[in-house]
Amino acid sequence: MDFSLSPEDIAFRDELRAFLDANLPDFLEAGEIGESSDSNERTMARRQAWQRRLNEGRWAAINWPRSWGGRDATVSQNVIYAEEMARARSPGIYNANGIWQIGPMILRYGTSEQQQRWLPGILDASEHWCQGFTEPEAGSDLANLRTLAISEGSDYVLSGTKIWISTAHLARWGLFLVRTDPTSLERGAKHEGITALIVDVTAPGITITPIRDLTGNALFSEVTFAGARVSQEYRLGEEGAGWKVAMGTLGHERVGTAGLSMAMRIELERIVTTASTAVSGALEDPAIRERIADVWTQLELTRLLNARALTKIQRGLPNWPEVPLAKLQWSYLSQTIAELALDVLGPTSLLAKGSPDALDKGHWAENYAWQRFTSIGAGTTEVQKNIIADRAIKLGR
Ligand SMILES: Cc1cc2nc3c(=O)[nH]c(=O)nc-3n(C[C@H](O)[C@H](O)[C@H](O)COP(=O)(O)OP(=O)(O)OC[C@H]3O[C@@H](n4cnc5c(N)ncnc54)[C@H](O)[C@@H]3O)c2cc1C
Repeated sequence: MDFSLSPEDIAFRDELRAFLDANLPDFLEAGEIGESSDSNERTMARRQAWQRRLNEGRWAAINWPRSWGGRDATVSQNVIYAEEMARARSPGIYNANGIWQIGPMILRYGTSEQQQRWLPGILDASEHWCQGFTEPEAGSDLANLRTLAISEGSDYVLSGTKIWISTAHLARWGLFLVRTDPTSLERGAKHEGITALIVDVTAPGITITPIRDLTGNALFSEVTFAGARVSQEYRLGEEGAGWKVAMGTLGHERVGTAGLSMAMRIELERIVTTASTAVSGALEDPAIRERIADVWTQLELTRLLNARALTKIQRGLPNWPEVPLAKLQWSYLSQTIAELALDVLGPTSLLAKGSPDALDKGHWAENYAWQRFTSIGAGTTEVQKNIIADRAIKLGR
């Protein structure tokens, strides 16, 4: 395994670092953006402005082709990008779903009219996108989805419910999976008869109801369709080929693990710095010191796991079983770090946002609640373990 970067990758990294050095400090200094009383809306306004700044330097969608404003980034450049953005503590981007998952699918399956219509708005952050896959009876078992799209004239007419759809209430567009052939379920062929549709989520017949999560924020929603009409021109790919499109988007979801492990390392450093400056004696307890050392070691193992996955991809091999292992490692470690923070930093770290005595404006308490999602989103822990048991260890059923 050779972990050294090629000259092209070093040049890529240095150009990105120079861009961040020139743009990030004054952006961060400018602080909050927008007048909204809702802090989530202010966060999204800030992300929108940051994505626009990134786009001006051609750094918003590095995974897209140059002809569409990207950089045709290689796998190792995607990893470098994720690590550098996490290291610099860059704000998140506004259209993460659009840039990493939906845009690449529009590039792959969309007609040139569809590409012209939708890609510029994803890239310049003028239109927000969501991804509508999960349903009350179709989460881990996504192919069980039942939202109906019946062909009528030049439209589809939609009925059904999607749930846990992130930022749907802020979106103009979404990539939705719907069932265009209801007989496929009766025939026991649930992966067939699914179609990918681009939906204007502000259209009549669509209701978006935000759902409050454990942190008190309402960042995801239930989306119900009651006779909403969607033009057949908004279909992405062939009718009945939606499963293939969905698998493409979920594959892109896995690109970011390297950045996540860098973000976790920075969070651990932040715990240690905060403890040494704000909580007297916090780092003297031998049990706490051992837990910090253990997390540090696990982070190093995660880095090596990511490097092994990357090496396999570069050699044209499937990065198996590193993908489910990295997902498990990420959810386990991010929850462990969030819990460690509360134990190290003490009672004021448990105070919620808005409390005058809350350490770091309530960041630690909020993060503890928020990290619970990591064992559900992007594939639940139990399902990842099943995959490893079945396909890697071959334990049998
Ligand atoms: C923060 C967050 C954001 C999300 N954003 C989106 C989004 O933007 N768009 C979208 O489409 N979806 C989104 N989701 C939904 C997410 O994809 C689903 O929650 C996930 O796929 C799990 O599905 P489920 O919630 O229906 O749980 P279920 O699949 O019903 O699982 C319930 C429990 O049963 C276990 N289980 C299920 N099957 C098995 C099995 N075969 N063996 C053993 N145990 C099993 C699971 O591990 C889990 O513990 C989001 C979820 C979260 C938490």
